[in-house]
Amino acid sequence: MKHDTSWYHEARVKTTMVALKRRNMAAVFVPDGPAAAKTALQMITPGATVGLGGSLTVKQIGLLDALHSGKCILYDQYAKGISPEKSMQLRRKGLLADFFVTGTNAVTMDGRLVNLDGCGNRVAALTFGPPKVIVVVGRNKIVADVDEALGRIWNYAAPLNAKRLNRKVPCTVSGQCEDCFSAERICNHLVITERQMAEGRLTVIIVNQDLGF
Ligand code: SF4
Repeated sequence: MKHDTSWYHEARVKTTMVALKRRNMAAVFVPDGPAAAKTALQMITPGATVGLGGSLTVKQIGLLDALHSGKCILYDQYAKGISPEKSMQLRRKGLLADFFVTGTNAVTMDGRLVNLDGCGNRVAALTFGPPKVIVVVGRNKIVADVDEALGRIWNYAAPLNAKRLNRKVPCTVSGQCEDCFSAERICNHLVITERQMAEGRLTVIIVNQDLGF
């Protein structure tokens, strides 16, 4: 017999949204990826500059392609064929863009965003710089608290992302973080967003779908 679990996700999202709002972050709940992409695009002013945080979720929902073909000026450091120097330049530009579009590694049900970054541009722009930040996250990344977020990030998201990026790091063999000192380590900056100072700066779009790692 198939049991309906939709109430479970909806209840968790509802709690999370209330907590995010208490911490001065706006929150929107949408049914699926296309609705999330549409919501994000509606928020971006035509002609605006847009920085990107590395995010499988943003790609999966079609938002990356839509931004490329849309009316904004996208700083895509992952665009095919660009040099490492150009990629770094685009990351820097993203720090001062009008908008910043990114995923998040986890959202806690008490309203915190938890992110582990490689270069640091993603967490830097999340923290300060772009006046508007749009965070897209699947329901699977909602966790009870910071402890659960950290466990999920170090022992699940990071190894899977390292494998996806073909990094030669020990977690791609063991399936858990080995606190490596590899030159290819993808986890260098850990940031917990406790609250936003500027009201209306950061919006979290929560998608009623499992997305990313
Ligand atoms: S610190 Fe190293 S072993 Fe740990 S998750 Fe990151 S890349 Fe993997």
